[in-house]
Amino acid sequence: MPDVVVAGAGPVGSHIACKLAKLGYSVSVMEEHQQIGEPVQCSGIIGRECVERYQIPKGVILTESQSAKFFSPSGKFIRLATEEVQAYIVDRRAMDVVFADRARSAGAEYCLATKVDDVRIDNDGVRVKARNGAGSKFHETKVLVIASGFGSNLTYKLGLGRISDYIAGAQMEVETNSVDEVEIYFSQNTAPGFFGWLVPTGAGRGLAGLFSRSAPRRHLYRLIKKLISEGKITAEGKVTSGGIPLKTLPRTYANRVLVVGDAAGQVKPTTGGGVYYGFLCADIAVEVLAKALSNSDCSQDALSQYEKGWKKRLGRDLKIGYFARRFYEKLSDRQIETMFRLLESKGIAEALLNSDQMRFDWHGGLLLKGLKYMGPWRYLFGWMKDKSQARV
Ligand SMILES: Cc1cc2nc3c(=O)[nH]c(=O)nc-3n(C[C@H](O)[C@H](O)[C@H](O)COP(=O)(O)OP(=O)(O)OC[C@H]3O[C@@H](n4cnc5c(N)ncnc54)[C@H](O)[C@@H]3O)c2cc1C
Repeated sequence: MPDVVVAGAGPVGSHIACKLAKLGYSVSVMEEHQQIGEPVQCSGIIGRECVERYQIPKGVILTESQSAKFFSPSGKFIRLATEEVQAYIVDRRAMDVVFADRARSAGAEYCLATKVDDVRIDNDGVRVKARNGAGSKFHETKVLVIASGFGSNLTYKLGLGRISDYIAGAQMEVETNSVDEVEIYFSQNTAPGFFGWLVPTGAGRGLAGLFSRSAPRRHLYRLIKKLISEGKITAEGKVTSGGIPLKTLPRTYANRVLVVGDAAGQVKPTTGGGVYYGFLCADIAVEVLAKALSNSDCSQDALSQYEKGWKKRLGRDLKIGYFARRFYEKLSDRQIETMFRLLESKGIAEALLNSDQMRFDWHGGLLLKGLKYMGPWRYLFGWMKDKSQARV
């Protein structure tokens, strides 16, 4: 019987498996797909802090990003650039394989094409029901880590609730013409409630995508058509789609169970980036699990420390980020245009870029700093209020 079964061999599941195996625990990772890293549902934009902390190797890095262009609905753009690299574009498939290989080298066992279907928990252990080509079978373990990404049913079956807000995304591999910077497109028409992107992944290649409150594939095809007409995209490729949580799971632990990564909703609501927050929470999960296993106490009381830990680390940024996202969703394209004008004409964008709060992965401080430059923003809020009163 392995000490721990991990459901899901995404980056988060493999990182947990690796750390636990290094601590001497026996770990079995069950992954429903035959290939690690497939299908790719990620643009692979990873902040420098994450790349350095988790030693993401150069071999999986496709390009570096020191600048980005942010486009308003009318097509005007603000270009922000820094001297230092802010983020890297990684080959997500290759990155997942690296993390799985690290876990295997540390001693974790991988069962591919094996889907965790059900879970039974009692005082003595967990019985994990998993299905592969040979049929269904129960596997006994001391603890189950659910790292099965967004949309998994397992947490609901365990009575941990459901993620109450999420957004759907779609992206396409494309061939590009002279696109060497990340481009971000803001418009409620292009990507209702979120934004679209074109990310260079190498010479003449890129990923175009968007998150949207509705019909992401339809909106993506419209965006692609527009980018083709502008000469930025020269050929279309494969489309993939997936969801991301905007809120966290009501509870991320139970007796002998922890939920980590997208499955727990540990994703930046501002950008939809989930890899770094997932890794940080995975570290906290390992700390709590190691203690629980060595004390032979994997009760929900003992494991509740995990939720306390990750909320302490991420709670503020998640809350402020979610608030900002909801605020953005209520803006019309005209209001977004006004916001762009203010950000540029008053030098706010530049001031924020140069502020001590400018961090690729931490947006709470930056958003609060933005509020401090409220002089012109008050105008925006006032304008919005006038507009809504006018409607009444
Ligand atoms: C279009 C799009 C673009 C994105 N771009 C970025 C980006 O640029 N940067 C960034 O940081 N984040 C991005 N994200 C989010 C990022 O992909 C996730 O946050 C990240 O993959 C979460 O890792 P994870 O290990 O928690 O889950 P996942 O990567 O989803 O891995 C979960 C694994 O569990 C497996 N699984 C699921 N159910 C079961 C089961 N019952 N039994 C066994 N296995 C199971 C799945 O097959 C999968 O391999 C993007 C997401 C989308 C949809």
